[in-house]
Amino acid sequence: MATESNSPVYRRVLVKVSGEALAGQGGHGLDATVLQSVAVELGAVAKLGVSLGVVIGGGNFFRGAAAALAQHDRINADYIGMLATIMNALALQQTLAAANIPAYAQSALPVPSVIDPYARTQALECLEQGRVVIFAAGTGNPLFTTDSAASLRAIEIRADIMLKATKVDGVFSADPAKHPDAERFDEISYEEVLTQRLGIMDATAVILCREHNLPIRVFDMAVPGGLKRIVCGANVGTLIHGDSGAANRREFDSYSTNVE
Ligand code: UDP
Repeated sequence: MATESNSPVYRRVLVKVSGEALAGQGGHGLDATVLQSVAVELGAVAKLGVSLGVVIGGGNFFRGAAAALAQHDRINADYIGMLATIMNALALQQTLAAANIPAYAQSALPVPSVIDPYARTQALECLEQGRVVIFAAGTGNPLFTTDSAASLRAIEIRADIMLKATKVDGVFSADPAKHPDAERFDEISYEEVLTQRLGIMDATAVILCREHNLPIRVFDMAVPGGLKRIVCGANVGTLIHGDSGAANRREFDSYSTNVE
């Protein structure tokens, strides 16, 4: 069997981790064992010297849109959802620190007693120092999701790719949980994701990536070593990008180390 490369093909990545990915059986709350395994996956990439930003979701506690259906005021519900992401960010930061992986969390929604506010320059400095930077509270605005925040932060930190961790191994033609014969795509364009309404992430997030030619890879975070393999160039999950080859044409030179 061929040995896999341990050489990263990216300098900086943004990983979107959903709240559900931190929950145990039942999909709710935080599970210490699951948190530790997520920390191991992220740590394996950080140890390669790859600069790592993480946008964390909050769906293991609260989702604004679902709560609005249950008669909550949508805007208020979204603020509750954003607060949920702060809880996850603090838990992940602590778990990473306990595993000797330096991490730093910032929140787009100011809660100064518990977490620093989002500041791009400071985030870039920490990334340069090799710390994992966790971005909490999404965009800081209601009516958005943490997927959109992931696209936004990925562009802001000049990540080479956005890696979206899900419960399934990529983008499928239909929900594989309901349709066992659903086809998994190796790669797919932003346009196809949007026009076929594949529902892997919200349209705002995909459009933002399309406008900035930022490739997205959708993968299953629960597969041990998967994240590291992707960072080392393995064709895991599904790559979402523009025209053929566009994903590989992003030049590392565009990556800025120009931190004031
Ligand atoms: N949210 C928001 N604005 C944002 C990001 C998130 O209002 O920019 C709220 C929204 O209610 C959302 C919740 O926070 O449902 C949790 O985020 P998300 O559903 O994206 O978490 P995930 O599904 O990734 O766990």
